[in-house]
This record gives sequence, C-alpha cells and structure tokens, in this order.
Amino acid sequence: MSTTPKLRVAIIGAGPAGLGAAIEFAKLPFVDVRVYEQARDLREVGAGISIQHNTWRMLDVLGVYDNINPKDLFRSADGHAVQHRNGRTGELLLSKGQDGTPPRYLHARTLRSVLQQALLKGVDKSKLRLSSRLTKITELPSQTFSLLFEDGHTDEVDLLVGADGVRSVVRQFIYPDHTLKYMGMTAYRALADANDILSIPDFPDAVTFWHGPADRFYTCNLNNNVYEIAARVPQTADAAPVSWGQDANVEEFKWRYKDFSPMLQSVLDKIKIVKKFALFSGPRLSRVISHGRIALIGDASHPLSGAFGAGAGFALEDVYVLTRAVKWAHGRGLPISEGLELFDKVRAPHYADMYTILDGYGKSDGTVKKTAGFDEAVEVIVAEKWNDDHQWLYHYGVEEVWRKTYEAEDARRGKVDGDRDRTTGGGEVASSRL
Ligand SMILES: Cc1cc2nc3c(=O)[nH]c(=O)nc-3n(C[C@H](O)[C@H](O)[C@H](O)COP(=O)(O)OP(=O)(O)OC[C@H]3O[C@@H](n4cnc5c(N)ncnc54)[C@H](O)[C@@H]3O)c2cc1C
Repeated sequence: MSTTPKLRVAIIGAGPAGLGAAIEFAKLPFVDVRVYEQARDLREVGAGISIQHNTWRMLDVLGVYDNINPKDLFRSADGHAVQHRNGRTGELLLSKGQDGTPPRYLHARTLRSVLQQALLKGVDKSKLRLSSRLTKITELPSQTFSLLFEDGHTDEVDLLVGADGVRSVVRQFIYPDHTLKYMGMTAYRALADANDILSIPDFPDAVTFWHGPADRFYTCNLNNNVYEIAARVPQTADAAPVSWGQDANVEEFKWRYKDFSPMLQSVLDKIKIVKKFALFSGPRLSRVISHGRIALIGDASHPLSGAFGAGAGFALEDVYVLTRAVKWAHGRGLPISEGLELFDKVRAPHYADMYTILDGYGKSDGTVKKTAGFDEAVEVIVAEKWNDDHQWLYHYGVEEVWRKTYEAEDARRGKVDGDRDRTTGGGEVASSRL
C-alpha cells in the first residue's frame, strides 16, 4: 500500500463550480477532497437557468447527465435556442436555431434547483461541510494553506480551489485590490403558472426576448406548470439592494413596459412571485491561479454576473481543465503548480475573450441611441446586439483545447517526459473520463 500522503484539496463553495469540482476531484485516487459551503442547507434561488450545449457536454463528462429528468426541462418544439420579438407588435425578428447540435445537447431551460440536485447527486456528501463560511486564509511556510471558518473550524490544505462565486473570499486573498461594482442593473426573476400564461391568446410557448427601445424581458416555460419572466432593469447605485434574492414586487418593473402589447401586459399581470438580484461585476483577472496552489473556478474566476447565460457551463469547463491539469502534473511527477499553469493557460484567455465581447456590446449601444421610434429602435437592437457571433462560446470544445495544450507542453518538455506512461499522466484522449 502506498504511504504517499494524499493531496489535500479544499473547495470553497458548493454552487455549480464547487459541486462539479467535488465530483471530478473525487475521481482522482491521489486526492483527499473536501467542500466547504457557507449556507446552512443547499437550496437554489433565482428561478430558471439555461443549460447550453457546453453545459450538457460537461454534465455528461461528470457522469451526472442522467440525473436530470427530461420532464423537468423545457425544450422548444421547433428546436430554436432563443427568439427575439418586438414587444409592441409581437413580430418575430430573430430565431436562433441549433444546427449541428446533437439532440442530447439541445438548449434547455429548467429550474436552477434541478441542475443543482443533478450535481449534488454525484457528490459524496461526507465530503461536504455546510455552515462553513471561510473567513481567513493564511499561507504557511510549508507552502500549504491554513483555512479558518466562521464557526472556528480550521483546515490545512495543499490546494485551495475558490469556487465561492462572484463575491469570492479566495479571490480577495489573491487580489486584495480587486473590487466589484454595481452594474447599474438589477435582475428581476418572476414566476407564474404556465397554465395562466399559455391561456393568453397568441402567446408563443417559446424561449423569447421581448424587446423595446430601452428595455426587454424574457419569457420561458420551465415545465411542471412553472413559467418564468425575467427582466434586467437599470437602477441607480443608491437604489441597488445589496442582498441577493430579495423579495420584490412586479410594480417595481412593470411600468417600464407600458408601451408593450396588451398580450405582454397580461403576461406581467399573471406573475405570482418576484425576486430581485442586484448585479455586480468586476474587472478581468489577469490570472486565475496564484501562489502555485490556488485556483479560481466559476464566477470567482470571472465576475461577470451571468453574462451569456452559460455561467454554469463555464464553471464546469473550469472544473474539467483544473482536474485534468492536476492529474497531468501528478502523473508526470511534477509539482501541482505546473498543472495550475496549464489550467491558467487554457482558461484565462477564454475569459479574456468574453470580456472583449462585452466591451463590444457597450460600443454597439451608441448606434442604438441615435435611432428613433419603437419599432425601428428594436430592429436595430436585435440586428446589432443580438445577432451576435459569440455562439462559439456554447459550442466551445474544452476537451480538445485541453488536449492540445498538454500535448504541446509535453512536446516542449521533450521526449523524456513525453514518454511517460500516458494512462497515469492525464494524457488521455480528449473525450475520455478521469
Ligand atoms: C441573473 C442571472 C442569470 C443567470 N442565468 C444563467 C443561465 O441561464 N445559465 C447559466 O449557466 N448560468 C447563468 N447564470 C450564471 C450562473 O448562475 C453562475 O455562473 C453560476 O452559478 C456560477 O457558479 P459558481 O459555483 O461559480 O458560483 P455560485 O453559484 O455563486 O456559488 C458559489 C457558492 O459559494 C458559496 N460561498 C461564497 N462565499 C463563501 C465563503 N466565504 N465560504 C463558503 N462558501 C462560500 C455560496 O454560498 C455559493 O453557494 C446567471 C447568473 C445571473 C446572475
């Protein structure tokens, strides 16, 4: 029996990133993993979530795809991923198809709790410690980290994984000067009975953005008689509530859509529950690793407050690369820091690309403002802002990118390392599992 001590890995946070990491690290026999979550119990707030092509693929890799019951998903009847309509006339301006996407990975919308439960089922619960809010990280001379939790619990670990979301404490430790800023936008997530919504004449049961010149909202079936209405509403910084998931009232945002069609007024009138979420974001991180033994994954690594509607997928891609990179280093007898460098090499540029797309959005606002009239403005907005070319984000082949990255690194390191036993070195073919 091997007496080599295991690599002690602490994952902070049990959102999609943390749960995914718990699943994948548990597959590495040389790792002793634990997950710390500040919440007393794991329950998802925030209504619906899109499961995109890349998210599905990662769920497959994690082995939890089948934990989602298809009856808990909404997929559009004609295969569109999303549609854009004029909020005044209802005219369909853009319908995005999913050509080339395997049926298994078609876009779906579901309650956030469905995704969370699917991941949770794959996690060894004995490794998950709830009511554990990380408050202090200290680097020890032994190049390990001492962790202190609010309830006095302590731990010492070799690898620290910050999966603690947009307000990450781990990120704050690495980048003390990094600050989040209110985006001037609050997300309202409302729910209604699907039967009520679908009884409105002519209302399309689709994944739909309804656009006006200044505002839009989103409607989508979540199945099981739940319909979601989501809006992002500009607010001044002083009005921004700080807490996440506060109870709210439909009157807080309904007035913004007074020029929308009577059909859409009826939709808003059917709303039963509303929660609001103030959106914060921060500048891009130049690196998503630090100290040779800390990695940031999920929203902690790219504080963007849900831009692109695929944050859970991005988080699981982080998990994929991080766990393979750690295995790669271990299999070659290299320090874990070398694996983290490869993780950073794959993921930091990916997030840089996303920030670049968002910068582009800001620029296109200028054109929109010059236009006059409801319908004309909406046409410009949909054509310029939503007929985007960032669909590649949802089809991004992280497995292939990782494979090319470690193969190039193996080649760079020369034949001696490259000739090591690949079955133990993380050098498996792109789609295989750990
Ligand atoms: C309005 C909105 C809509 C979105 N829509 C979509 C969508 O349609 N599809 C999609 O894929 N993504 C969507 N996202 C993004 C998605 O929600 C996030 O990207 C995803 O939740 C990130 O997962 P995470 O695990 O990194 O962070 P989180 O889900 O935020 O989880 C972080 C966890 O860490 C815990 N934690 C924080 N601090 C500590 C601490 N100090 N100690 C211990 N635990 C701690 C938190 O309690 C939490 O459980 C949306 C986001 C927003 C805001």
